[in-house]
Amino acid sequence: MKLLPAMLTLDEVQQRCVQEQQSSNVKPPGWLSFCFELSRLGWIRRQQARFAAQPRQSEREMVHGESHYVWGRRYRLMIEERDAPPQVRIHGGSKLVLQVRPGAAADKRRAILNAWYRAELKARIPDLIAKWGPLIGVQVTEWRIKRMKTRWGTCNIEAQRIWLNLELAKKPPHCLEYVLVHEMVHLLEQHHNERFRALMDQFMPQWQLYRDELNRAPLAHEHWEY
Ligand SMILES: [Zn+2]
Repeated sequence: MKLLPAMLTLDEVQQRCVQEQQSSNVKPPGWLSFCFELSRLGWIRRQQARFAAQPRQSEREMVHGESHYVWGRRYRLMIEERDAPPQVRIHGGSKLVLQVRPGAAADKRRAILNAWYRAELKARIPDLIAKWGPLIGVQVTEWRIKRMKTRWGTCNIEAQRIWLNLELAKKPPHCLEYVLVHEMVHLLEQHHNERFRALMDQFMPQWQLYRDELNRAPLAHEHWEY
């Protein structure tokens, strides 16, 4: 879940290898950093493959009676057509009411629901950052919610900027908290190494359970381009 660098092609990796050898004359530090680059590349590829292989919901048609998830709970979608500004609300613990203007097509309905999911996340994230910032001892300068196909979150360490996946509004709240803590820990340690894991153990001893839960949960339907 760390910042995804621009994907390198095999040619670029080879080129980098040659440059590395020329510039460092195979001195250990340069060579080590190149090896690290390669292992990071492998890690990113594995992550992407796992994300791609995760079970996915069939595409939601945004029709009455369909199942939709909010904070890890399943709701039945109720469509209400009304000539009024659209709104979304949870009714009676089992219904997700999507009020739309008459004739609103599936895309429009989806956009309204996604805006609501975004608002749900926006309502929770500031408190979580305020809670974890002092505990971890880092500062998040900027955060955004993004629709991402291959990551639950990313962290730009220099900019102290965290992006969180919109899909997290469909998972249990502790999953959002886990992803946020993971990204904030990257502000202390860039890589997924022993130190990173030790920091996660220290701040969130249950993190592996949350990670597994997140990786088992079905993702929204996406059209995969690779
Ligand atoms: Zn990460």
